[in-house]
Amino acid sequence: MTLHTPAHKINLLGLDRKAMQDFFVSVGEKPYRAEQVLKWIHFNGAEDFQAMTNLSKALRQKLCETAQITPPQVIYEKAAADGTYKWLLRLADGNCIETVFIPEKTRGTLCISSQVGCILNCDFCSTGKQGFNRNLSTAEIISQLWIAVRKLSKMNGVHDHAVTNVVMMGMGEPLLNFDNVIPALHLMLDDFAYGLSKRRVTVSTAGVVPAMYQLRAATDVALAVSLHAPNDELRNQLVPLNKKYPLDELMTVCREYFKDDSRRSITMEYVMLAGVNDTPEHARQLIKILSGVRAKMNLIPFNPFPHTDYQRSDTETINRFRDILMKAGLNTTIRRTRGDDIDAACGQLVGQVKDRTRRNERYLRSAKQKVVGGNN
Ligand code: SAH
Repeated sequence: MTLHTPAHKINLLGLDRKAMQDFFVSVGEKPYRAEQVLKWIHFNGAEDFQAMTNLSKALRQKLCETAQITPPQVIYEKAAADGTYKWLLRLADGNCIETVFIPEKTRGTLCISSQVGCILNCDFCSTGKQGFNRNLSTAEIISQLWIAVRKLSKMNGVHDHAVTNVVMMGMGEPLLNFDNVIPALHLMLDDFAYGLSKRRVTVSTAGVVPAMYQLRAATDVALAVSLHAPNDELRNQLVPLNKKYPLDELMTVCREYFKDDSRRSITMEYVMLAGVNDTPEHARQLIKILSGVRAKMNLIPFNPFPHTDYQRSDTETINRFRDILMKAGLNTTIRRTRGDDIDAACGQLVGQVKDRTRRNERYLRSAKQKVVGGNN
């Protein structure tokens, strides 16, 4: 892998089919070359133009001079006791992001990041506490899948390790990086790249309402919404974005989202925080606001991180909450916590963010004050 490739060379990892066709036309080649090269890069995992044997020598030479295939560098790989993998990837500017693979009996899910850090600062999420640096490029987003597929295919028992699903539930808010996320989604679905089914690619959002309408118009991948609270007062506190796009606006877009396809529903994520959002009254409020929304509830036991004051609801409370929702006809599942021994579980991804918001500094300072205060 060449780390010091000249910056003027275009990184082909970041081009979806349309952009790749435009690239080939721009260098005086036929557009169908796009399909051949997409297949080499994403299907075969090639990173060297010389390996692309169905291209003429002259074309390979031209690609060497004008283009590059440069993924981020894998800094380390960690395996959890339950088979979950986490990769720390270093980007060209020194920031690091995390990507997680979660194998199950019948599928393998890759959880990928869309930003370095996150601007939203949800109170129960450690990524938010790391602050924010920048959006990921399309190449940096799709590289996470490219790297995982290559790594996993080299392991024993390939069939247990294949990526069948992608969820954009890693670091960052994908809908605040719309322009770079959309081409990455195109590549995930493209038969010349990863050929994943639209039902197996999920964008998760904290509720950027205008971008949700745009997403529906641009692609029909699956949607997950990080709900976490059944009323505005509590949601303002847990998900500050709610102050900008309150629940009635969010529920309106959710009601409309799959209205042209009655077989599809939205996954509502709800982190279970002891004594905060987990009472029977909260469950009843939830049922009310979700009326008319085709939704599946996914209850996520809270995953703790350093200095947080929140605690996970106990199993009994989570089960009671689920039972109330189920009785009202809401399909509800409880997410099994995976990879928590390597900090790979939901909300535990932190990477190494060169924070531009100074939020991390403030967070650590207030945590320190709490400790000092506690000693007095
Ligand atoms: N910004 C997007 C995607 C990233 S978060 C979004 O908000 O949906 C992916 C999921 O993990 C979200 O539902 C998020 O709320 C949840 N999550 C965040 N921190 C968590 C924690 N500490 N424990 C459990 N789930 C958490």
